[in-house]
Amino acid sequence: MKCRIINNNKIELLNTCAFDTLVQLFACATTDSIQFGNYIFDDNKSGLFYELLRCITKNGVTNKVYDLRTNILYHIFPHDELLRSIVRVGCHCDIREIMINKVLNDVIMADEIHRCSNDQCQRIMKKVPVKCIPYSSRSEDFGDLQVHIDDLIKPSSTLCAGFNNCEGIWTIETVLKSHVLIEVSNIPEDKLFYKDAKIGEENLLDVSEAVFGDVVCSLESIPIKITIMNEHFILRGAAVFIGNRSAARTGIGHYVAVALRNDGHWEDYDDFKHKPVSIPKSTECGVQILLYTRET
Ligand SMILES: [Zn+2]
Repeated sequence: MKCRIINNNKIELLNTCAFDTLVQLFACATTDSIQFGNYIFDDNKSGLFYELLRCITKNGVTNKVYDLRTNILYHIFPHDELLRSIVRVGCHCDIREIMINKVLNDVIMADEIHRCSNDQCQRIMKKVPVKCIPYSSRSEDFGDLQVHIDDLIKPSSTLCAGFNNCEGIWTIETVLKSHVLIEVSNIPEDKLFYKDAKIGEENLLDVSEAVFGDVVCSLESIPIKITIMNEHFILRGAAVFIGNRSAARTGIGHYVAVALRNDGHWEDYDDFKHKPVSIPKSTECGVQILLYTRET
């Protein structure tokens, strides 16, 4: 691939697989879901990632796509200035932390609305953007995914009391948009430590990130449908990691997107390969991200 030019420098990108995987995951969903496609192509949406998705689903991988990709990555990762105006940008990173937090700034899945029921209340309403839902599996499957999501998304309310004598109800409510992105990790039970050796969630001590692994399972064991507040979401694919899984957050490896297409078969999008490859649903993968789109 040709170098792209920014500020008269030739930009050379290295290790772009985490970024390309995220793009591919969203691009397949944009193509396969009419509803999500309309959402991405909505004229009011601005941002380089939206523009990249629109370009790639309309015209495939063109020079414009390479320019947009370079532009996004150039502004996220540190540069190495080499000779003759060549700038090297190393894009190796953890897809869960860096990519979601830095690339998906505009591509949020929900707003969390914090507000008081009392119109006269002085407490300021807050709107917090949500980019993804964290999910930690304690076993090697997604058995409690739906329960976990229900628990995380359910509205909560407390008395606003104490704030300038307000007697209203302070609620936190999640308002979903068009997709749900789930950040997956696996914390094996033997890596959990409890305060004073007592059992129970409430005694759980913070888990160091080094023990986070992936959920390694077959593609067919990922739930195809989840329901959130009576809305249905369909699985579109996963970002999977190939490499040292014992400490995946720091390990060196390779990211690949696997997409569940509309006809029910799985495709593997690996930038080491020239074109997507059909893979059996029994394929075992180290899952790090799941993407679902809203279907009504
Ligand atoms: Zn209040």
